[in-house]
Amino acid sequence: METKPEKSLNFIHEIIEEDNRTGKYEKRVHTRFPPEPNGYLHIGHAKSICLNFGTAAKYNGKCNLRFDDTNPVKEDVEYVDSIKEDVRWLGFNWEGKELYASDYFETLYEYAEFLIKKGKAFVCDLSVEEIGKYRGTVTQPGKESPYRNRSADENLELFRKMRSGEFPDGEKVLRAKIDMTHPNMLMRDPILYRILHAEHHRTGSKWCIYPMYDFAHGQCDSIESITHSICTLEFEVHRPLYNWFIKELEIYAPQQIEFARLNLTYTVMSKRKLLELVQGGFVSGWDDPRMPTICGLRRRGYTPEAIRNFADIIGVAKRDNMIDVSLLEHCIREDLNKQASRKLAVINPLKLVIENYKESFIEEIDAVNNPENPEAGTRKISFSKVLYIEQEDFMENPPAKFFRLAPGNEVRLKYAYIIKFTGVIKDDTTGKIKEVRCTYDPDTRSGMPLSNRKVKGTIHWVAACNSIEAEVRLYEQLFTKEKSEEVEEGHDFKENLNPSSLQVKRCFIEPSAKQAKPGEKYQFERMGYFCVDPDSSKDKLIFNRTVTLKDSWAKITKA
Ligand code: ATP
Ligand code: MG
Repeated sequence: METKPEKSLNFIHEIIEEDNRTGKYEKRVHTRFPPEPNGYLHIGHAKSICLNFGTAAKYNGKCNLRFDDTNPVKEDVEYVDSIKEDVRWLGFNWEGKELYASDYFETLYEYAEFLIKKGKAFVCDLSVEEIGKYRGTVTQPGKESPYRNRSADENLELFRKMRSGEFPDGEKVLRAKIDMTHPNMLMRDPILYRILHAEHHRTGSKWCIYPMYDFAHGQCDSIESITHSICTLEFEVHRPLYNWFIKELEIYAPQQIEFARLNLTYTVMSKRKLLELVQGGFVSGWDDPRMPTICGLRRRGYTPEAIRNFADIIGVAKRDNMIDVSLLEHCIREDLNKQASRKLAVINPLKLVIENYKESFIEEIDAVNNPENPEAGTRKISFSKVLYIEQEDFMENPPAKFFRLAPGNEVRLKYAYIIKFTGVIKDDTTGKIKEVRCTYDPDTRSGMPLSNRKVKGTIHWVAACNSIEAEVRLYEQLFTKEKSEEVEEGHDFKENLNPSSLQVKRCFIEPSAKQAKPGEKYQFERMGYFCVDPDSSKDKLIFNRTVTLKDSWAKITKA
């Protein structure tokens, strides 16, 4: 990783440095990244990963990868495996093995018995709907459950029967005994355990009761001796409850710190919505290059460096905000500009014939591989009488200030000669331009006397004689609405899907691209950065456009 100039501390690091100064945790810094394995990771998680692993690295501490797998119905090993792969790909490593909340099911169960014995938890026979009704509202206090005053012995017996499978799903729950009039609704005798006769991806059928996420998360942090339990703002209201558990259980207390989750324009980030897009076939899968998932970004051509840099630039805030997706694009552009080899490729081909160029003659011309990196050297590209240029680089009746090829305009063909328009040949029936004719000036190529002659436009091209064909997939934002998660009553977020978020085209590329391997990244000059798709092969090359070259962010920051 490159070294960055010293930045001022973010508020989380300020807290850590103060704790280190006062010796609150004996100068230990121990964080964790705690995903629920119920979906693939997205760019928001990447922010949390960079923050948790990055903070541990900065303070010579540790960061655990812990799966909060308390909900067997929605979880799967497929998600566990993808999460591990994505965290590693981002450049982070956890010490030893990954951890699981399910590793602590026995301890959590003992914690529950401890609360029962203390008179702080009770088995309740109300149905989930009834519990909801008894809860009251934000403005109205709740009502106590008629089962609230069962004796500790009776509760213990019932809870053990819950565990041993004597009751069907939903018949009973274990609840904390806190305060049904508490202004924080989460403190109104929350559910701790529910009966769920379901197979768990790790514990199989060992358990038929499962702890609620809220009864597991904070205690798992405590069991792992986490010092700074960093989470997103929606957990701020859960903090009093987590603290209540820790206090009543008389166990080690980590410190919870909340930060604002990442929101991106033109992007939905909720796992539930992303799953809907996958299951409904609106995208080709979790790794569709239009998805904000880490695997989608990877397939699109994003690099871990660019994502880490993005996380660094956006920093951490205490208030919710919305980040312009063009900042993410700016980060990948910057990274690829440094490392991507240049290629000539024409996406909407128009035939160009050079009238005064020798028939069936092929000339080898030097082209620069990467102007940002002199060590990348040069390569040979073929030049011949018949070429392809981009349709939009020619206009028969151009507006003012059109400096590309047009009647009366001279342009330079990149790395090669200056050409001059002579005429067009049209299809007799449709009137569509079939080919453009021109002449070239033989003295204008590099090494020739007039190589420095200036013209206003330079366009790219490929030779018809040996260019190769490939499929290019051009992407736009998946959603047309800036705040794509916001929908009005009675509407669905999928109504905001962009119908033209994917365009598939054939294109012609210089022959040196023939060996391109999945994952490799190129700049097609003037057309954007492209990454070879995993489904690409020698017989069918497929390129995903990562991002166009135009940097709208550069304009935004200048304005
Ligand atoms: P759900 O949609 O099920 O609530 P989640 O997005 O909260 O899921 P988790 O698996 O619980 O997903 O997330 C793991 C960690 O990543 C949590 O600590 C969570 O706070 C953090 N995280 C999730 N989304 C974002 C986001 N958009 N920005 C920053 N951190 C996030
Ligand atoms: Mg969550």
